[in-house]
Amino acid sequence: MGLLEGKNALIFGLANERSIAWGITQAFKREGANLGISYAGEMLERRVKPLAEQVDCKWVEECDVTKDDQIALTAEKAAKHFGKIDVLVHSIAFAGRDELSKPYYETSREGFKIAMDISVFSFVALTNAFLPLLNPNASVMCLTYYGSVKVAPHYNVMGVAKAALESSTRYLAYDLGPQKIRVNAISAGPIRTLAAAGVGGFRDMYKHFADMSPMRENVTIEDVGNSAVFLASDLSRRITGEVLYVDSGFNTVGVQMSEKQEKSE
Ligand code: NAP
Repeated sequence: MGLLEGKNALIFGLANERSIAWGITQAFKREGANLGISYAGEMLERRVKPLAEQVDCKWVEECDVTKDDQIALTAEKAAKHFGKIDVLVHSIAFAGRDELSKPYYETSREGFKIAMDISVFSFVALTNAFLPLLNPNASVMCLTYYGSVKVAPHYNVMGVAKAALESSTRYLAYDLGPQKIRVNAISAGPIRTLAAAGVGGFRDMYKHFADMSPMRENVTIEDVGNSAVFLASDLSRRITGEVLYVDSGFNTVGVQMSEKQEKSE
């Protein structure tokens, strides 16, 4: 029997087959979850619908998380289709190209607001909107990155947004703890996705990660999917407010050195 058998799981942020949300969707399917998928806009429908069919997902809904009415409508539709929800995954982020290439001090007011709205507030708003549907023992999770605690060049306002997202995870976990609803974040190492392509210098960072991380290996969407299964399942039933690193150990090393650099001494 799968670890998520009988659980209704909603996943927000599927764009294409490279999305972290797709790794999570596939892992959830393998473990027997009953799936619902939400995507950002009409433009994505063409890509998302065939993916949803692959995992036999009948509930596929468009939801732009900057719109309160769309969030409310999506929750209404989920209530009608599923009744109750056991797992809610937020795999959404956005910042403008300028914000991810110029120096951080040049961040515009509007760029700052947009990044925070889509990448942080939407997690709070979705949790709030779906709260009436969440079963006791439900698991809510979001995706974050190490640029929240240490400087990752060009990550800029997104690093600040991820810091706020991780803090929101703790506050939400505190609020929902008495209802036995858990809220956690997965901090994934760099993965080549659409969102990542917008970060200046990402290619080099991605290549170097495999040299510098203790496990000398990049992270895949399958790795993240499997960790999401753990957080979604009852195996993690006393874990809440945490940031789980899925990064080949990268964050644990203070002085990053490749094998080649180590040997040259
Ligand atoms: P992705 O496939 O591009 O997913 C990002 C998703 O956010 C897309 O589906 C995107 O839709 C959606 N989104 C943007 N604005 C939205 C809005 N207004 N309403 C609803 N959805 C919206 O990239 P990803 O790398 O898998 O990103 C998923 C999460 O993982 C993000 O939180 C990201 O920061 C995090 N993460 C990524 C990495 C990495 O290296 N890739 C590492 C750690 C954490 P559109 O395409 O239509 O904008």
